[in-house]
Amino acid sequence: MHIGSDSVFTELNSAGCRKTVRQLLRAYNLRPQKGLGQNFLEDPAILQRIVDAAELTPDDSVLEIGPGLGTLTRLLATSAGQVVAVELDERLAAILPEILADCPNVEIIHGDILALDPAALFPERRPVYKVVANLPYYITSAVLRHLLESPARPRLMVLTLQREVARRLVAGPGEMSLLAVSVQFYGQPRIVGRIPAGAFYPPPQVDSAVVRIDVYDQPPVPVDDVESFFRVVQAGFGQRRKQLRNALSQGLGRPVEEVVAALKRAGIAPHRRAETLSLAEWAALWLEITGAS
Ligand code: SAM
Repeated sequence: MHIGSDSVFTELNSAGCRKTVRQLLRAYNLRPQKGLGQNFLEDPAILQRIVDAAELTPDDSVLEIGPGLGTLTRLLATSAGQVVAVELDERLAAILPEILADCPNVEIIHGDILALDPAALFPERRPVYKVVANLPYYITSAVLRHLLESPARPRLMVLTLQREVARRLVAGPGEMSLLAVSVQFYGQPRIVGRIPAGAFYPPPQVDSAVVRIDVYDQPPVPVDDVESFFRVVQAGFGQRRKQLRNALSQGLGRPVEEVVAALKRAGIAPHRRAETLSLAEWAALWLEITGAS
């Protein structure tokens, strides 16, 4: 397999091609760590499609979460101006500078993305950046929250996720979840591709999808107290399968009559369930429950 352009190679196999994921693992005597979600993408066409979805230009700064063996990182570096790649695995963080020695616009940071302030990752520029990542699946929701709730939000994210989670992110009223509301409050997610398990080494148990999230400058609903808004949404989803009147009354510690009145003022039938509400309905309900104006 030959990944990338014909520039200077530092990591070549005997055929003169860039080393594959398996060859790199062998060369460095490494084994993928399941606990860190290490399923490496091997298929060059799929890697390129992920990069294309981010519509990168030399003006772009990219944050990559979990560069692994650097295959996606290298492609990002050819299209973007700057790539900051955060890798938790100490063994990989140690060899990545060597693997990517011919990519001077890549900075490898050894650390946990969830413990890092995104604003601090791009100190020399305004923190305007895109995120491209083949995410370790066990931290998907936490990463989405960490980046989208940060004051230094990315303006675009292209993420490889479990297909099931991808479907939940793009769901509409009838199938909404706390995760869907949380993501759709900040941006517009859409599925831009599917990835079969066989495109990874080792293959994961589940199929994957690529999701692109175009992050809004401002939320699309008139909510000026995000914490209070999500307290209401969380209460609504807190008691799955319960009617909203009961879930909200219990979750917010308010009398049922008060909650029913707020639901009616917002134009929402009190017997509906949380998964049926649109983002606009959540905003209307929050306004009525908190009396915000
Ligand atoms: N980008 C590579 C690719 O596409 O082949 C590797 C993707 S692999 C699914 C996920 C990577 O994330 C692994 O390299 C893993 O060590 C790293 N990782 C896991 N948890 C992390 C965390 N909290 N912060 C940063 N990297 C993490």
